[in-house]
Amino acid sequence: MPVLCQLANPDTYQVSTWNLMDSEEDAAYWLALFAGFPGRSDRYLLEDGLAGPDFSRRWLAFATEYAERLEMIRVEAERTGRLYTIDLCRFRWDMLDRHGFPDPCAGVKQRENDVAVTLYPEVVQRVDALAGRHRWELLLKGILAGNMFDLGSPETMAMYQRGEADFFGFLECVPARPWFIDHADVLLSGLNGRARWRQVLIFVDNSGADIVLGVLPLARELGRQGLRVALAANRTPALNDITIGELRPLLERVAGMDPVLSDLLTSGRLVAIDSGNSYPSIDLSRVSEECDAAAAESDLIVLEGMGRAIESNWDASFKCDVWRVAMLKDESVVRWRGAKLFDAVCRLESPVVA
Ligand code: MG
Repeated sequence: MPVLCQLANPDTYQVSTWNLMDSEEDAAYWLALFAGFPGRSDRYLLEDGLAGPDFSRRWLAFATEYAERLEMIRVEAERTGRLYTIDLCRFRWDMLDRHGFPDPCAGVKQRENDVAVTLYPEVVQRVDALAGRHRWELLLKGILAGNMFDLGSPETMAMYQRGEADFFGFLECVPARPWFIDHADVLLSGLNGRARWRQVLIFVDNSGADIVLGVLPLARELGRQGLRVALAANRTPALNDITIGELRPLLERVAGMDPVLSDLLTSGRLVAIDSGNSYPSIDLSRVSEECDAAAAESDLIVLEGMGRAIESNWDASFKCDVWRVAMLKDESVVRWRGAKLFDAVCRLESPVVA
């Protein structure tokens, strides 16, 4: 698989520079979070009728082997002094696959997409009622509000279980600027009026409100301003992240309600592509051919969500502009960056010219 051609330093690229073993507290936190996964995730399969035959025995076998292997990972991390979140993600999905549970969140994702689709017309109506900079500001807030639907962080998981994951509610709660990292003024002046970019490649994050109410309205507006937009989604499932197999029909479905989006899809100015990746953290040294080809044509890369923009690729340098946008939803990530819970990152960087 190709290395993303827009990486400035492919030879020294590291998916993540956040070694969890640098802090005892962080290592313990992540190991405990992953240790709790089997105990809290069977409900997704059971509630959605996806458990399949002989579920209790199969899940117990999964949970037992999972616990044993996680302990081996802990011991190995103690020995080497190295542990990264992508290692834990890879381990979790390998285990689920081995035990025949390739996509435990399939039902949740479907339901959340269904809900978000019903809210889409109201969101684009609100967007279209505004002009110029105000419109872009709402779109930016929408991305942050949508990114709160996340089954990877204990805080937002609990909100989801309590039925509090409401897009319009989140929209009201997007923190006041300035955010933890706030390059929104530069970003908005690059978007409003004559756009600074020609093609945008967006590595999208979650299903539901995130993609439908956050990313799509923004992509629609970018397209309407004459930019080409490529949405790169994961190849295989990871928690509630949207996969390319889910994104394509979802786009068609939303386009059925929105002539603007429909035109963009028909004309090829908005496309969905397979990123080639499999985890919430994105490894840009292994992307699909089509993702690499889209990157070659792009002058802005967007890394959306904590996994893609912060836990991985925080220190990566690019040959083109890169915009990292995410809500900070995890206490350990917040501690690492010295931020506050539920603050926002809107970090726009241009290549360093030597
Ligand atoms: Mg995610």
